[in-house]
Amino acid sequence: MGVFGNFIVRLLPLAPKFVVKRVAGRYVAGSDLNSTISLMRKMDKENTSFTIDVLGEEITNLDEARYFVDEYSRVLDEIILHNINANISIKPTAFGLLLDRDIAIKNIEEILQKASSHDIFVRLDMEDHRVTQATIDVVLSMQEKGFENIGTVLQGRLFRTEDDIREISQLLGPLSDFRICKGIYLEPSDISYTSYQDIVKATNRCIDLMLESGCYTAIASHDYPVIKHSVKKLEDMGISPNNDPRENTIGSRKGKGSGYEFQFLLGVRGDLRRKLASQGHLTRVYVPYGTKWYEYGIRRIRENPDIAWHVTKTLLMPWTNRK
Ligand code: FAD
Repeated sequence: MGVFGNFIVRLLPLAPKFVVKRVAGRYVAGSDLNSTISLMRKMDKENTSFTIDVLGEEITNLDEARYFVDEYSRVLDEIILHNINANISIKPTAFGLLLDRDIAIKNIEEILQKASSHDIFVRLDMEDHRVTQATIDVVLSMQEKGFENIGTVLQGRLFRTEDDIREISQLLGPLSDFRICKGIYLEPSDISYTSYQDIVKATNRCIDLMLESGCYTAIASHDYPVIKHSVKKLEDMGISPNNDPRENTIGSRKGKGSGYEFQFLLGVRGDLRRKLASQGHLTRVYVPYGTKWYEYGIRRIRENPDIAWHVTKTLLMPWTNRK
């Protein structure tokens, strides 16, 4: 898979943009907000909720950060106007985290404030290890200011994650709200697991620890061993779609599941998502949109050539990943 992925990555610059666009079309809602809203409305019958991501990340000047603040503000307006069951996912570096921490925090707070006044949750996506601690610190400082509608993502592949779960859940108690995923960035072996089996085991341990610590746990994986493990752990703890018997939780919140949810990327393993939804589990689709779809797709594939393999497999063997 690695060799094949690397081969595709080397061929990418030769692929015409329209070919890449065709491939990306499955994973990106569109280049503007209108197409994103209509896609979510079309998906109404799939009994799912959404988190919206405006494409783009690490910026080079703070004017670019303003674009993201304004665009996310429009996203919130549209969620409210159309009464869509959606929250938002933002990348802290797109708000300026690597340029000027104080300005980034001000930008994030502006969006958080608006979201909070409409009871909409804001998830800080987790980027590479340069910003792991800084991203966690943003969540802690916002919660200290009284914003309860914020949480971040932790990556199962990182050695530090179990300690992060313990520390954050001790500080925030039942307001700890995580998305747990394997982590898309291929991190160095001195700070992360690098083999598939180790990453799955570590991610599953993190899911257990989050659930046991009373955290809201958004399980973001399309991988059967992770989903099977989660379903079994939820059953063992007596947590069901309508009942969370844990005493160390906050209880149900607007737009959320009973202590947990399953999250999927748009265009990936929709059949599995629909199956989980039909069993009553709350599911959420991560919906990226924006003009930066080309850069986004190419960068993701370069960061992790396995994605090139997933995408190629999807095209050649569509039955392995039903939309
Ligand atoms: P895999 O074993 O990689 O995938 C299982 C199967 O799912 C594959 O065989 C393939 O059929 C399918 N598949 C998986 N990914 C793709 C894809 N991109 N295209 C096509 N098919 C695919 N990572 C971060 O580092 N930070 C984040 O903030 C973050 N947010 C995420 C939010 C959501 C909702 C999801 C679902 C993932 C997120 N990720 C994030 C990515 C995540 O860390 C993994 O890199 C990604 O989900 C692949 O891991 P997997 O558990 O799905 O397992």
